Amino acid sequence: MESRKSRLEFQMEEKKEKQKKIIIIVAVLAVLCVCAALVGYMMMQQSDDVDNPNAGEPVGTEVQNPDVQTPPEPLVPVVSEENSWMTRLVNSTTLLEEGYVPELVVVNSAGYKFDARAAEDLKAMLQAARDEGLSPMICSSYRSWERQNTLFENQVVKQQNSGLPYEEAYEKAKTVVAFPGTSEHQTGLAADIVATSHQLLDDSQEQTAEQQWLMEHCWEYGFVLRYPKDKSEITGIIYEPWHYRYVGHEVAQYIHENGLCLEEYWQQVEEQEARLAAQNGTPKQYEQG
Ligand SMILES: [Zn+2]
Repeated sequence: MESRKSRLEFQMEEKKEKQKKIIIIVAVLAVLCVCAALVGYMMMQQSDDVDNPNAGEPVGTEVQNPDVQTPPEPLVPVVSEENSWMTRLVNSTTLLEEGYVPELVVVNSAGYKFDARAAEDLKAMLQAARDEGLSPMICSSYRSWERQNTLFENQVVKQQNSGLPYEEAYEKAKTVVAFPGTSEHQTGLAADIVATSHQLLDDSQEQTAEQQWLMEHCWEYGFVLRYPKDKSEITGIIYEPWHYRYVGHEVAQYIHENGLCLEEYWQQVEEQEARLAAQNGTPKQYEQG
């Protein structure tokens, strides 16, 4: 009797143990389910945040505007009429007039002159380079029409002295020195800058730490390297890793970010204006020169 009772008790205890185990398993499963649900909910919230920048803001405040279309492509920056001096194009086909003389200031102890409106940016750029332990040096800046003309006439005489008739000497001189009115140096916005330790005006100039720094940072001061390596066909000028041109901060940044030369920038401006004029139905006339 006693052994039977203990057997019954044993069976009862065994049953209770089983029930306990089941309860524990169910509880653990329940906890896991809750955890999984929580993790899932958090992940959904996160992905909502990524997709919807307004996540967390009150629902129902968003106003759908049927007039809003896809944003237009980024516009080419165009300076105001007042600042048109900054982006003025000067090259072999777009000449500066004989009388163009900007207001000039002397920018260094060597007496080099620059357009007064851009001189502070030039000085700031050179100072920033010096603060980096570099030694940039201006070796040419403003050059007057008269000076260009003298250089050109001297070159014609030189070619004549070498035996060429006048007309041929004249054409030959054009390939050696800038024809008066075609040099950017007349704008007062161009500076030839070299490393003090390496003053050669050739491709080797690009290897200097000074040029490396200037090429990387000049746009921050409103300048561009005017005659880049891969743009000679467009600029008509050989690669000049020393000739910097002021175009203003906004345009310099745009040219830098888009890898353009000034001719390409102007091409984009004209295309943009033609596009806008077509949209507005008023064709725009372009002045030549
Ligand atoms: Zn130059």
